[in-house]
Parts: sequence; C-alpha cells; structure tokens
Amino acid sequence: MTLKRRDFLYLLTASVGALTAGADQASANNVSQASQIAKATKTAQTPGLFTLPPLPYEYKALEPHIDARTMQFHHDKHHAAYVKNLNDAVSKYPQLKNMSAENMLRDLSKVPEDIRTAVRNNGGGHVNHGMFWEIMSPKGGGEPTGGLATAIKQSFGSADAFKAKFNDAGTKRFGSGWVWLVRTKAGKLQIATTPNQDSPLMDGNYPIMGNDVWEHAYYLKYQNLRADYLKAWWNVVNWTEVNKRYEKAI
Ligand code: MN
Repeated sequence: MTLKRRDFLYLLTASVGALTAGADQASANNVSQASQIAKATKTAQTPGLFTLPPLPYEYKALEPHIDARTMQFHHDKHHAAYVKNLNDAVSKYPQLKNMSAENMLRDLSKVPEDIRTAVRNNGGGHVNHGMFWEIMSPKGGGEPTGGLATAIKQSFGSADAFKAKFNDAGTKRFGSGWVWLVRTKAGKLQIATTPNQDSPLMDGNYPIMGNDVWEHAYYLKYQNLRADYLKAWWNVVNWTEVNKRYEKAI
C-alpha cells in the first residue's frame, strides 16, 4: 500500500515537472536526483572511520615549487585512496574502532594478520600524508626555528649541512619511499629513509618531518629529476609546524 502510494507520488511529481520542463528531461532528473539522494544517505549511514583531511591551502598555493596538478592528484586521488583502503581493511574488526592509525603503526602485531599489510601500507600512507600537507605552506621556506634550530645545529653542524644530508638520503632512497628527520627512541635527531609508505613509528622513532619521494609527488613537474624536487621543497617547508612536531616529540 505504502509503496504504491509512493510510486503514485513519484509519478505525480514527474508529470508535474513534465508540464514545465518536458517529459523525458524531468523524469531523467527525478531518477538521477533520487539515486543521488540514495547514495548520499548510504554514505551518511556508514561513515569511514578515517577521513581525508582537507588541504590547508589551495592546490596552486605551493607553486612554482609544487604545481597545482600534482597537489590535486596527490591529495584527492592518492591520499584519498589510502584512506579508503584503510577503512576497507579495518571495517570487519570492530575492536580496532578506537585505535588511531598512529598506534596501529606503532605496534602492528595488534592488527589482525590478514589486514596487517593493508594497514601498514594504507595506514602509513594516511599518516604520512596527513603530516606532509601540514608541514608545507605557501609562506614556508627559510631556516628552522625555535628549539629545533638549536637541535639541528648540535646534531648536524648547521641548517645547510642538515638540508644537504637530508637531500642526499632522499636522492639515494631507491624506488618509492620517504626521507625523514626523526627523533629516535634514545632522543637523538637522525636522518632516515623508509620504503613504500612505511612510517618511522614502526621502529619507535618519531617523524618530525618527512618528504615524499614517490614519483607521484614530483613527476609531473620534475620528471626524473628527484634531486631538483628535493632542493625546491625547502622553499615550502613550514618550520613553525615542524618545530611544533619537534616539541611534541620531546
Ligand atoms: Mn605521496
């Protein structure tokens, strides 16, 4: 009975529309609106545990050092895919519901074995990129600040020596991965690299800052010239945010 009434109302709406907009167009609009509403409702009822954070600036904000197209694909496609795949992986384990992605990476043995690799890759991808967008800024560049500036000088001699060593490690990372400044368990500042989306958290080290050396991060603008990208990247580093991460680490 209810269904029939609904059908009737639907047809009525469609025909009223038809009077003004033409039968085919109106009914096509109604069908597409109805399916869009159905899709939206479904999404709203089953929210992902993890969400894609919005970029804190426009796609083009980091130009000329990182181009808008790279930023758009990198954030909207690559990072979005890590979030989706992470949600898919953890969806059948309600016991993981209250665990942050960072804590999963800190101790992957707590993650069920059949989704461990998926969490390592996609949880790593989600956490790494979440940091990445935040430590860059259109007002970036310049030199390290605050306590981090002192620590970098103590550990590497100077900011320039640190940058050179970081670039060198990033250039030598074979294939896809990340180059990092980490704070080790022992409290030392160290430059490290990881393959794929592996996080320093997996080794008990805290990622103070990291640069993405996957080709998707630079290929559209720099092609094979990873070293040029690494050099240009310092122009967009948000030292205020990096210093905050350093303070958090200690
Ligand atoms: Mn990336």
